[in-house]
Amino acid sequence: MNGKYEENLTERFHEAVSSGRIRAFYQPIIRSLTQQMTGVETLARWFEPDGSVLSPDFFIPSMEQSGLIFELDMEILRQACALYDTFRRRGTPLPFLSVNLSRHDFVHPELFDRICGILDRYSVPHEAIKLEITESLMLEDTESFERLFEHFHEAGFSVWLDDFGSGYSSLNVLQNYRFDVIKFDMLFLRDFSIRGQEMLASLIGMAKTLGIHTLTEGVETDEQRQFLLAAGCETQQGFYYSRPIPEEELIEHVDHKPGLLENTDEVHYWDEVGRLNFLNPNPLKEFTARRRSGLNREYMVNAYDSSIALVECGADGFRYIYATEGYRDRLRELGFSSVEGLENALSNQRSHQYQMIRKLVLDALQRGTVQTVEYAHDDVYYRLSALFLARRDGRAMIVMHLNTFDSEREVELRKEMLNDSSALFTTYELVVMFYPEKRKAKRIYTSNNMPDYDREESFDQSLSRF
Ligand code: C2E
Ligand code: CA
Ligand code: CA
Repeated sequence: MNGKYEENLTERFHEAVSSGRIRAFYQPIIRSLTQQMTGVETLARWFEPDGSVLSPDFFIPSMEQSGLIFELDMEILRQACALYDTFRRRGTPLPFLSVNLSRHDFVHPELFDRICGILDRYSVPHEAIKLEITESLMLEDTESFERLFEHFHEAGFSVWLDDFGSGYSSLNVLQNYRFDVIKFDMLFLRDFSIRGQEMLASLIGMAKTLGIHTLTEGVETDEQRQFLLAAGCETQQGFYYSRPIPEEELIEHVDHKPGLLENTDEVHYWDEVGRLNFLNPNPLKEFTARRRSGLNREYMVNAYDSSIALVECGADGFRYIYATEGYRDRLRELGFSSVEGLENALSNQRSHQYQMIRKLVLDALQRGTVQTVEYAHDDVYYRLSALFLARRDGRAMIVMHLNTFDSEREVELRKEMLNDSSALFTTYELVVMFYPEKRKAKRIYTSNNMPDYDREESFDQSLSRF
């Protein structure tokens, strides 16, 4: 491609390595829910003696042609391991670094041993290095690739699928290999069309169904950041957060913001929480939203307004980590101006709502299954469900699902009854109003796992079961 550049490539490459002009740069990978840094991707840079920088898109094709790519990738891996060691010594350990492997590396007989050898040399645990590979690789020599893939997995490495959706995309590869992370190509964000957003959101949902973690690259705007958060994409990477930067800058960055780096506990905790599919779309609602909004820009983030929230419980009470727009809407129907308004009400420990939600959360923590209460508040009747997701020291994450129903005439009556009887909810599992003259029964409050005594075919049957 570039005659002059390719002259004496081998010689020039070795010269560049030995004089430290082949350098790894690092780009932060950010957790959508917390904006913490969970790791970095390692990217190669070639500095010319005059100080100018060559980008990988320029030199990698000729490195692949000449067979030098393997040596390049091993040198970049070595620098990544050295950096891991540096951070460990400084007392601010990096959870992981990802490195890019070329498809040519996979036909090199020493790939596995060389990688293990480099990690050994710097005492880097295998879990700390993530191997990014692209799809095109798997379509070639399937058999030997399959063997290597298994080999890496058994040795504790994570293998990431890079550039997903960039062109070769064959869903087959997801069927055949157990990837730890799918890295969605930045083309999904490039024009950021509604179709692109819909595709990306569905693919994120699909990855979750398959138990694969999600990362989208090429995030450049706040709008994209928010979209990915709402779509449930667990991690993000892009110029919005940081360009690839040299080691010194990364260290400075981390020193500047204590708490920016996740620790190992946090990585496991948030990985567990991230398995939740935020989108759980309600087809009828989606359809109505689509019709109403005429597919405007707002649509994607709002249409999947599953009404869920992530609530973290600790010794100091409840803290909302994330709430969908749908959940916020329901809360407004319940008379809270905001999520913070509810947090305050809950922190007022005497309120019967607090008692009730506390019990719900404790049940969810204890039982590990979905727990539900139904409850009337002001003019609204609602159902709140809770499910335990993950635990770390002293804290647990619960996902809440909130549904409200239109009020009925009886709500007035219930209200009166409920106002002075908060003890009802902590004492009884089920509170039902009977209307003998109408031969009807109405639920006021239930905790979970109550048999449907009051929902028998007929009023008499209900009554007799009681
Ligand atoms: P990649 O693995 O998909 O890496 C992401 C590329 O996107 C990087 O380009 C990065 O700088 C760029 N990027 C990151 N965030 C943004 C953003 O918000 N907007 C835009 N427009 N771009 C963003 P880079 O460093 O030039 O690398 C290009 C490609 O070269 C990489 O694509 C990767 O396939 C390859 N590569 C880089 N380093 C290595 C290496 O050490 N070994 C191998 N085999 N390939 C490498
Ligand atoms: Ca990559
Ligand atoms: Ca990529």
